[in-house]
Amino acid sequence: MTHASGNSSDALADARDSRDTVVIGAGVIGLACAVELARRGMKVVVLDRGRAGNGASFGNAGWLTPSLAFPLAQPGYAMKAARWMLDPESPFYIRPTLEPAMLRWLAGFILSSRRSRFRANAPALIELSRWSVDAWESLASSGGVDFGFERRGLLMVLETESGRDHARRAASYTESLGIAWEWWDADRLRNEEPIVTGRQIGGILYPRDAHCVPDRAVARLGQEAERLGIRVVERCSVVGARVEGDEVVALKTEWGDISGSQYVLAAGYWSGDLGRALGLRIPMRAAKGYSLQFPRGSIHPVRSISLGERKVTVTPHQDRLRVAGTLEIVGDDLSVNERRVRAIERGARGLLALPPDRAEPAAWAGLRPCLPDGMPAIGRSPRHRNLWLAIGHQMTGLKCAPGTARMLAELMCGETPTFGPRPFSPDRCCR
Ligand SMILES: Cc1cc2nc3c(=O)[nH]c(=O)nc-3n(C[C@H](O)[C@H](O)[C@H](O)COP(=O)(O)OP(=O)(O)OC[C@H]3O[C@@H](n4cnc5c(N)ncnc54)[C@H](O)[C@@H]3O)c2cc1C
Repeated sequence: MTHASGNSSDALADARDSRDTVVIGAGVIGLACAVELARRGMKVVVLDRGRAGNGASFGNAGWLTPSLAFPLAQPGYAMKAARWMLDPESPFYIRPTLEPAMLRWLAGFILSSRRSRFRANAPALIELSRWSVDAWESLASSGGVDFGFERRGLLMVLETESGRDHARRAASYTESLGIAWEWWDADRLRNEEPIVTGRQIGGILYPRDAHCVPDRAVARLGQEAERLGIRVVERCSVVGARVEGDEVVALKTEWGDISGSQYVLAAGYWSGDLGRALGLRIPMRAAKGYSLQFPRGSIHPVRSISLGERKVTVTPHQDRLRVAGTLEIVGDDLSVNERRVRAIERGARGLLALPPDRAEPAAWAGLRPCLPDGMPAIGRSPRHRNLWLAIGHQMTGLKCAPGTARMLAELMCGETPTFGPRPFSPDRCCR
């Protein structure tokens, strides 16, 4: 990868001679797309305003869990959000506002939370994720940067009867889509995962789920990008675009213009702003979340753990434990709300024997890119013949990255699609 920290201007000048596709955003989605396009023989340049992989892709939970690859808009979520709106420590929070764009987004979110919409979208996302996790596994076994891929399953710990009933209904539904699960009673659960303490009534094991270290996974993609001759220009912010009719002619960056024959927008949450520069309305909001790390303690979980009712996730890496949570619908706000971070830690300690102190670094915040129906948009821009979108992956960007890239590359190259593209079509929400 071209790490252009020294002189981004020179790196951009070099890149101008070596591209036919320009990708905006070097997160897990942009890099995965670049790799898939380069494998088809395209010359690809990726631009990022910061360091590659430093957006939402950096410190997420690292879960590769098709069992939970749901759109954000789910039956019951809108009601929950309304109930939690006044609770400064709730795991799902929508900041109250009368801003018209936010009200439109909320209306779309509520409509998409209907069971019929959810059931139209969820199977497609689960399939995309299942394929992607297999692809991550192949990448892990092909050598290169070790990104801690482990397929040891996910255990969802449940404390209440209503939580159990809800989780079992969800598991039966995903089972109908091919996702295996089993019920563990409380004794078995504590035997298999002694880190779980406190009072719980059992849990659901999804044995085929996996996890990895998210920033290392991006590094592995970066390595693949380098091998394929992709130019990644860092610290190069796209600030505008030249559009003529239905064609993007050039991108304006802080270091000058760059043009290609095709463009891919994969800038995570910030794709909304870039859409404006490209003449496309993209209803993007951010769902902020946090992750914290603990040193590896004397009892270390074997598999990822979800604290079902508390909406806290736990991921065991080789040398540490990552705890993540909170979904706060906000604008461009990466500030760390210590009160919410403490609530995540308290939630985790209520059911897990965690080491007494957190490890460095301090709590990390990331912005999940969310469209109103909580489905990614993958495909051609409704307004441009040479602009393609790979955006809006909300809680599933890591677990759906390889499949997203495959779908986009197939669409761009006119190949027979591996996945039905319709549920992901940008036409449904971008104008
Ligand atoms: C707390 C938390 C936990 C999560 N856990 C999981 C999980 O376990 N599994 C999972 O699958 N997903 C998870 N997610 C979601 C996942 O992190 C995102 O879906 C994914 O990272 C989105 O990737 P992306 O490449 O679209 O965006 P990003 O990683 O945000 O990348 C976008 C890139 O675009 C660049 N960019 C922005 N503006 C410009 C510009 N103007 N010019 C050039 N470049 C620009 C940014 O610098 C950034 O590098 C979690 C998210 C959070 C916050």
